[in-house]
Amino acid sequence: MSKKILVLPGDGIGTEIMAEASKVLRFLNNKFSLGLELEEALLGGAAIDAVGNALPDNTFALAKEADAILLGAVGGPKWDKLPPADRPEKGGLLRLRSELQLFGNLRPAILYPQLAGASSLKPEVVSGLDILIVRELTGGIYFGEPRGIRELDNGERQGFNTYVYSESEIRRIARLAFELAMKRDRRLCSVDKANVLEVTMLWREVVQDMASDYPDVELSHMYVDNAAMQLVRAPKQFDVMVTGNMFGDILSDAAAMLTGSIGMLPSASLDANNRGMYEPCHGSAPDIAGQNKANPLATIMSVAMMLRYSLGLEEPAAAIDRAVSSVLDQGIRTGDIFSDGCTLVGTDGMGDAVVAALAE
Ligand code: NAD
Repeated sequence: MSKKILVLPGDGIGTEIMAEASKVLRFLNNKFSLGLELEEALLGGAAIDAVGNALPDNTFALAKEADAILLGAVGGPKWDKLPPADRPEKGGLLRLRSELQLFGNLRPAILYPQLAGASSLKPEVVSGLDILIVRELTGGIYFGEPRGIRELDNGERQGFNTYVYSESEIRRIARLAFELAMKRDRRLCSVDKANVLEVTMLWREVVQDMASDYPDVELSHMYVDNAAMQLVRAPKQFDVMVTGNMFGDILSDAAAMLTGSIGMLPSASLDANNRGMYEPCHGSAPDIAGQNKANPLATIMSVAMMLRYSLGLEEPAAAIDRAVSSVLDQGIRTGDIFSDGCTLVGTDGMGDAVVAALAE
């Protein structure tokens, strides 16, 4: 039975990197006879310009039907003056994630040995790094009610948010993390602030309760301040980390930088049935948009995650991993990962190099 893939290029470099990711996906579709049907739609600023809405009804209908979604990036200065709820990010991307209940955000931070010199940390600290951060994406303080800015009796303004997690929300993200740990090195570190915040005391209790279902996984707990420190001190101690929305937002960006370039980082956001949206961790990079300078590898590696996690197609996913490694071995680099002695290519040149490596 054919599987439907919805392709949402978005804005800025989104269209350029998605052209390369689609090139790779179409090549694999033919080579492995995957029977994937690709359909493209508008999201974000491009959709605002075309139909006046960051998440058009047609895009939303296709997204609900799709087996998986591939996204470039949305946003840009052109739409920054719109009210926040109408902008490409909130009105398009965040709405789509929340409507589709994509609660599990997977952000791998893998350092290819060929790029060890591009990290801001010493090569021996990061070389061989392979961490997976699992972040809860649809709950916690980013969505908790009540929230707002109110005026107190003394006339002073006060901002407030609510940090809330129910047991079922904790259980479903923890289950996803335990399952992923089972497929890796079987070590899971749950990150919280259980010494101060009641909501994360419950988080720790629920995660600990679930450990008996996964006797092969070595579970540990760490306070978020220590986890931030350990990530830059000795990041290789981690295999899978699981945490809430806000802590995950911050820790995954720190982990991202361990690998040198944001242009190398894929991500996945999954629902309870492993349907998901796959996208690079970076944004629409207006500063380099339209210049054929963007690194498409994060998006190409997001295709590999999609094949692996939502479609169960390990062989073509592994072929992408090998092709990316081979291209890096050949010294082919976009500007963000370039170093002396390497061959500088543009966005399209990098996509072509990956397809050529897949064809070998
Ligand atoms: P950004 O990630 O777009 O860019 C940050 C820096 O990294 C820039 O210097 C950019 O040139 C560089 N960069 C990013 N991706 C690259 C790539 N593939 N290859 C080479 N260099 C790359 O972040 P920003 O500048 O803070 O945001 C720009 C716009 O993107 C904003 O409108 C923001 O809201 C939006 N944004 C969207 C998403 C998303 O769609 N998921 C995520 C983050 C930011």
